[in-house]
Amino acid sequence: MSTGTADTDETRVTADEQSDDHETEPESALETARRQLEHAAVHLDVDPGVIERLKHPTTVHRVAVPLERDDGSVEVFTGYRAQHDDVRGPYKGGLRFHPHVSEEECVGLSMWMTWKCAVMDLPFGGGKGGVVVDPKALSDGEKERLTRRFAEELRKFVGPKKDIPAPDMGTNSQTMAWFMDAYSMQEGETVPGVVTGKPPVVGGTEGREEAPGRSVAIVVREAAEYYDYDLDGLTVAVQGYGSVGANAARLLDEWGADVVSVSDTGGAVYDADGLDTHSIPSFSEEPNAVTGYAAETDGADLLDDGNDILTLDVDVLIPAAVGNVITADNAADVRANIVVEGANGPTTFAADEMLAERGVHVIPDILANAGGVTVSYFEWLQDINRRTWTLEQVQTELESEMLSAWNDVRQEVEARDITWRDAAYVVALGRIAEAKSVRGLWP
Ligand code: NAD
Repeated sequence: MSTGTADTDETRVTADEQSDDHETEPESALETARRQLEHAAVHLDVDPGVIERLKHPTTVHRVAVPLERDDGSVEVFTGYRAQHDDVRGPYKGGLRFHPHVSEEECVGLSMWMTWKCAVMDLPFGGGKGGVVVDPKALSDGEKERLTRRFAEELRKFVGPKKDIPAPDMGTNSQTMAWFMDAYSMQEGETVPGVVTGKPPVVGGTEGREEAPGRSVAIVVREAAEYYDYDLDGLTVAVQGYGSVGANAARLLDEWGADVVSVSDTGGAVYDADGLDTHSIPSFSEEPNAVTGYAAETDGADLLDDGNDILTLDVDVLIPAAVGNVITADNAADVRANIVVEGANGPTTFAADEMLAERGVHVIPDILANAGGVTVSYFEWLQDINRRTWTLEQVQTELESEMLSAWNDVRQEVEARDITWRDAAYVVALGRIAEAKSVRGLWP
């Protein structure tokens, strides 16, 4: 796939499409993160002090980032880095360049990263940051100067053993290469492990771009088997045909599933016999090409409303576009038996409860799309060991990490008779609480 878009760690969405959605989000990332923490805490015998502590970030760095514009004027932007919890290892999470970056959003997203790393049993905690800026309004030179200055402002707080940023909305592998270079020049040595999501030539890894989609596909495969569906002929609908959606859809197609519908911001295409997913360009190959494919292909029809994809009669629904798309307004109409969250936070808290009551199995984002941060962990391992892995190694290790996490969560689902989301949080929170307990609160 093209490197024109970010091979991000975690919570990237396309700035174009996201800007409006952010304003109408029914709940902020921080609200959701705190509610989900409280929900899961009920199932665990954890010291309430630990839960209270986890509702707050360890620290949030706020920095001024001056930029000399191409016309010689100087503009000062605000940057953040929220560091939620590092009891299990260095903070890990993306850096966004987006006009809607805020301290609260960074804190909420950093909390999600803590849970995601813990459910995958990665030796990382959660971080998230960004600069309040519209990257589309910057030239390439301005982006580079902004990134280098931001790296310098964060230099004391990041590092391969402290906090390891990655691309996110509005940033990409080039941004990470500049960040790594600025950091390395000040440190006096090349330090590839300070960020992940870099181009492979400077310490990036093979297989990073497709990783979140691959993990989603693996989770769909496991969930189908668990609920006695044949993967061959399993009907699947995928909202969002970007990095996560297209990679998941193509793998499932290769594995025998019938991907009957996919969508992007232009609309949704449907073919009861299954779409040829490799013939539909993904977002990075050709933005919003789904409608064009529908127009040119016999048997492929456009749905009247793109959002109808969420309520199709399919076995598995994969929301892989943006957050807050399955809400109290449409949850009663979802007809899939299994929902596998490719996007971050596609299901609101209220919708989640409605789906659970109706017996729809929702496999949560922190497990399903965690292939991204997992392969970032592989990149970091390669960097600190100065040893590259082949694509085959990356895929084999990812498969093994996903199966291990899937089984850990499945055991909690069975033992406690709880939802997959609660089970994932129980696994994550259990690990974090245990680490806090053995380390102790000091001084
Ligand atoms: P992307 O920019 O590559 O693709 C997004 C796709 O969603 C595009 O096809 C776009 O047209 C479509 N889209 C946007 N709004 C839509 C809407 N309302 N209805 C239908 N389609 C819509 O983005 P991505 O990297 O695939 O990320 C998708 C989601 O997955 C985001 O929530 C992101 O935070 C999350 N995620 C991404 C990664 C990653 O590394 N890429 C990792 C974990 C989670």
